[in-house]
Amino acid sequence: MSLRETLVARIAAQGPMTVAEYMQECLLHPTAGYYTTQEPFGTDGDFITAPEISQMFGELIGLCLAQTWMDQGQPASFTLAEAGPGRGTLMADILRATGQVPGFGAAAQVVLIEASERLRQVQRETLPGVEPIFISAPDDLPDAPLYLVANEFFDALPVRQFQRGKHHWHERMVGLSENDLSFGLGPETPQPALADRLADTESGNLVEYCPAAAPTVDAIGQRITAHGGAALIIDYGDWRSQGDTLQALQDQKPADPLASPGKADLTAHVDFEALFAAAPCACSKLTPQGVFLERLGITARAQALAAGLSGAALEQHIAAHRRLTHPAEMGNLFKVLGLFPHGSSPPPGLDV
Ligand code: SAH
Repeated sequence: MSLRETLVARIAAQGPMTVAEYMQECLLHPTAGYYTTQEPFGTDGDFITAPEISQMFGELIGLCLAQTWMDQGQPASFTLAEAGPGRGTLMADILRATGQVPGFGAAAQVVLIEASERLRQVQRETLPGVEPIFISAPDDLPDAPLYLVANEFFDALPVRQFQRGKHHWHERMVGLSENDLSFGLGPETPQPALADRLADTESGNLVEYCPAAAPTVDAIGQRITAHGGAALIIDYGDWRSQGDTLQALQDQKPADPLASPGKADLTAHVDFEALFAAAPCACSKLTPQGVFLERLGITARAQALAAGLSGAALEQHIAAHRRLTHPAEMGNLFKVLGLFPHGSSPPPGLDV
């Protein structure tokens, strides 16, 4: 039975499901979910992430975290964590670049937050000799200083969608129309979690709410507050969720989110204001990825790498630098939010 058939049967028996329930099933269904069955990353996949574009991304993230570790007095034993590591490329680049920082590697325990057993195996293969600890949820992070990166992780967390009614909200649901999946609206009900959105919306507007976002930031921020550390949350999105940002990508092209459950990537823009509001530690200003990478010295690193390249490899390298930083490409669409202890400085490249 395909995932579509499974979902159609379930909705026929139990009624419509929320967009978040639909996203959860599409991405992480144990036998038919996107991350549990597909190979989405890279030039042949459905989408290309920053670490897959160039090694420079992970190198600079690694040096940023290592500099923060040094600035915080080099805790002798700490967690080096990544949320949603994909193929493991980012962590591999972090570990290679920080291999030159005395004491960092020896003090680090690598922890990977990954829900997909299939991707855990890919990550083990990308990281020979590392012996990472795998956990399924941020609540299971060790009680230790925490240096964490999450690149394109929060955009995979399921969102609920609500359309503003006259006084309250209609939840957007996935139901059936002529035995096929279709969007519909639930009855108008109050939504306490959206109380602050009554002021900036009017009837007909759509807002998104990611139930897992606040608990995730809380679990990360609690470790940073109690033991020290920092987190870099990098994703596409903006300060406040506006409109329908649910997006399906298949073969690097936008697709209908209901068309191929489990076969297309599904994401929603990250509402960074919600992360900021949930953080039990200090937060940096929301900073465009291009600005962040330039401040960390990506141009100097790009020039150093370019010296050893020619022909097509050099062209590709120049295009990768542009793609990561240029405002018309990923430079502005992607944002960085830094978490760090109250009373400390933010990680390099970020300010308050
Ligand atoms: N950070 C990587 C890949 C991002 S794709 C990169 O930049 O290339 C999203 C990753 O998050 C995948 O590894 C996916 O399996 C994982 N993931 C998605 N939802 C998750 C969840 N709820 N819990 C844990 N991991 C999840």
